Amino acid sequence: MGAIYNFNAGPAVLPPTVLQQAQAELRDYQGRGMSILEMSHRSKEYEAINAQAEQRLMALLGLEGGYRALFVQGGASTQFAMVPLNFLASGATADYLITGSWSEKARDEAQRLGHIHSAADTAADGYRRTPNPEEIRLSADPAYVHLTSNETIHGVQWQRWPEVGAAPLIADMSSDILSRPLDARTFALIYAGAQKNLGPAGVTVVLIRDDMLERAAKTPPSMLRYSVYAKNNSLYNTPPVFAVYLLNLVLGWIGEQGGLAAMERRNSAKAAAVYAAIDGSASFYRGHAAPDSRSAMNVTFRLPTPELEARFVTEATAAGMVGLAGHRSVGGARASLYNALDQPAADALAAFMIEFARVNG
Ligand code: PMP
Repeated sequence: MGAIYNFNAGPAVLPPTVLQQAQAELRDYQGRGMSILEMSHRSKEYEAINAQAEQRLMALLGLEGGYRALFVQGGASTQFAMVPLNFLASGATADYLITGSWSEKARDEAQRLGHIHSAADTAADGYRRTPNPEEIRLSADPAYVHLTSNETIHGVQWQRWPEVGAAPLIADMSSDILSRPLDARTFALIYAGAQKNLGPAGVTVVLIRDDMLERAAKTPPSMLRYSVYAKNNSLYNTPPVFAVYLLNLVLGWIGEQGGLAAMERRNSAKAAAVYAAIDGSASFYRGHAAPDSRSAMNVTFRLPTPELEARFVTEATAAGMVGLAGHRSVGGARASLYNALDQPAADALAAFMIEFARVNG
């Protein structure tokens, strides 16, 4: 089989060296005669992995001191409920910044549990951009403000965080965590499903500020309380051991590459190649996102007709570029360029796009 360039939106491409190490260790983890899949989560081997993954996350994000990293199951979708269960008391209001399908979903779930205010909503513009500061209307005293740093379906990414005063800012970073440097201390809580930039599906990373752990509600069921995870080092019950093991390898890989600054350099160069193919196509390709809100992770674009969009995906797949169909809710094409995707993949896609536009334009 020839080279496959994997543009899947998630689960997504993983670093080849990580897969090789996982393969090598699958039958025999560090001379123990069994795989990590077959060991107790209370073993010293697993506890070391758990601790190293937490430590690596904190180091990469500059959150050592004052924050905890937790490993939770149930995907980012469970966080949509856990956040209001822990932080939205009855009588209070939580503010949501709505920039696409994922922030909508987060808001809709929270709405089942308490009072919600949409503090900005770019739906009327077709979710092409993040809101301008003057469009954001926070409620009087929000319990928290929630945003989605990168809208995986619409390809819209926040470039500057909004001003929220004293309110705790909470972010779903599922599709761009560790893709660029950031001041993570801007946030009271960050969550991210691992299956795009961090590893496999099955584990969701939560970074939470200490004061949030203290203020969180004490009444929700144990598995839905952040403080239970923190108190037990994410080992309250059996964790997804293999997912955390792979997450730890991916975090090690990011560190070896040079951390978040290196990730941003890689990601900017890949995104520049694909957006240049869009912008240079004399409107054959139409980028979905407004240029100042463009995502470096998910490049979303339309072609002149649905027939051409279908042919584009088919021919790209035949050429070894997989995962390019747009999400069913918006159509068109989407190229996901997560951390582990290499520059040759983005260059191959850009060259394919230029040639496809020449032949079909
Ligand atoms: N938030 C964002 C930004 C996402 O991209 C996704 C998944 N594509 C989710 C939340 C939902 O994640 P999960 O499937 O892990 O529940």
